[in-house]
Amino acid sequence: MPQRKSFDLVVVGSGPGGEGAAMQAAKLKKSVAVIEQSPLIGGNCIHRATIPSKTLRHTAHQLVVFKSDPLFMPLVSGLSTQLQIRFSDILARAKDVISKQVALHSSHYARNKVEVIHGRASLIDANTIRVDKGFGLSEDIQANYVIFATGSRPFHPEGIDFTNPRVFDSDTILDLNIEPRTVTIYGAGVVGCEYTSIFRTLGKKVMLINNRSKLMSFLDDEIVDALSYHLRDEGVVIRHNEFFDDVEVDDERVVMSLKSGKKVYSDILLVASGRIGNSENLGFEKLNIEKNQRGYVTVNKYFQTSAPNIYAVGDLVGFPNLASAAYDQGRFAALHIYQPDADNGVLQDAPLGIYTTPEISSIGKTEQELTAERIPYEVGQASFRHLARSQITGRKVGMLKILFHRETLQILGIHCFGQNATEIVHIGQTIMLQKGEANNLHYFTSTTFNYPTMAEAYRVAALNGLNRVS
Ligand SMILES: Cc1cc2nc3c(=O)[nH]c(=O)nc-3n(C[C@H](O)[C@H](O)[C@H](O)COP(=O)(O)OP(=O)(O)OC[C@H]3O[C@@H](n4cnc5c(N)ncnc54)[C@H](O)[C@@H]3O)c2cc1C
Repeated sequence: MPQRKSFDLVVVGSGPGGEGAAMQAAKLKKSVAVIEQSPLIGGNCIHRATIPSKTLRHTAHQLVVFKSDPLFMPLVSGLSTQLQIRFSDILARAKDVISKQVALHSSHYARNKVEVIHGRASLIDANTIRVDKGFGLSEDIQANYVIFATGSRPFHPEGIDFTNPRVFDSDTILDLNIEPRTVTIYGAGVVGCEYTSIFRTLGKKVMLINNRSKLMSFLDDEIVDALSYHLRDEGVVIRHNEFFDDVEVDDERVVMSLKSGKKVYSDILLVASGRIGNSENLGFEKLNIEKNQRGYVTVNKYFQTSAPNIYAVGDLVGFPNLASAAYDQGRFAALHIYQPDADNGVLQDAPLGIYTTPEISSIGKTEQELTAERIPYEVGQASFRHLARSQITGRKVGMLKILFHRETLQILGIHCFGQNATEIVHIGQTIMLQKGEANNLHYFTSTTFNYPTMAEAYRVAALNGLNRVS
């Protein structure tokens, strides 16, 4: 009988959560294996979610910039038919980025001497993992600790037939091989809003059906209002507080009947009704590891499950369901195993990046939260249309809001909407996360920024805020 392989840490899943965990433990000189059920590493993040959707978005934007810049008009006018780039053409470009990303991340494992084992993992007991390799083959391996980062998948509401070729979720939309003119998107969370922007940018008629009263309610109200305004201004039809009753599909179209009695007609339907954790058949029942109705595993602030040597990170534990957060959670969980006093503060103040058009990013408290907590705050605001850089690029839609304490001038929240918002937020993040008096609005008025840049918005917003309290 061959001896079982044995590791200090076994990580299940090779998305950002698994990679963060594996790299951290490897840096601490621990023996680490990553088990991945797919033939290629990288997780949903690289293959079906972040990377393909951001590549799609970028390519669609390039096209719009090219078509709308007056300088290029004479070039474009004779080529307009060739410029009708198809969804499938753009996806081909995404495949190129995906393969580069897989190669890059594979090299991280090799360089850090992390063994990658392909197969489907499940727990036999708290220290034994069975890897099912298919064709009746399996291998049992031993581990002192196990970190699960098995991710999530699109939630499928009952009553919608996802086998129909006109009905998609955020995974299958990447296989779209017809060219729709009209698209219904059901669900106005991050994924629904991002795909609304992508399809609209590509010139499709989009109906966004939301079963809540506003888009992405976890964001600052003013930012959400601005997004709704701009989507509508671009021609997107948004319906709030609507629930589907029935979906009928024929050879020509999809008809979504809403409980309110309305009917929505389109060429395709994309359902974006949230996610569900991949927590089945992992052997969790044997160890009484708890999870909620959406399959998200319950963990403490160190990402430990109810079994102390088993951790869970990333999409498997739910909100914020972001690759950026998954990576840091994995990194922190591995650190906590070997350095139990490690500070997890950085995880609580992670920014949110949402790649709608215009894009959104935020960190810290919203106005609603500060009001509810009765914290005396003030707002400093900069409108992008007044910035030289915005005028040069022609992308004038947007704003930066700095929320700060009226008395101490401590920065409490940064909310940004518009071109490069997901980059711009990091400047504010750096100051906001400083300890003590270094976190102060005056930083932005007493520091020289390059000119012309979008970063100038911080100086403008800080001056605006200071005017309101002096
Ligand atoms: C359309 C879309 C766009 C997104 N855009 C962004 C974005 O712009 N920015 C951002 O930060 N986030 C974005 N996200 C979210 C991001 O993709 C996820 O938060 C991230 O992938 C979660 O990482 P993870 O490591 O937890 O899981 P995943 O990336 O899902 O990886 C899980 C891995 O575990 C493997 N696995 C599962 N079960 C087993 C098993 N039993 N044995 C072995 N292997 C197993 C899977 O094969 C997979 O490789 C987006 C998501 C979607 C759907």
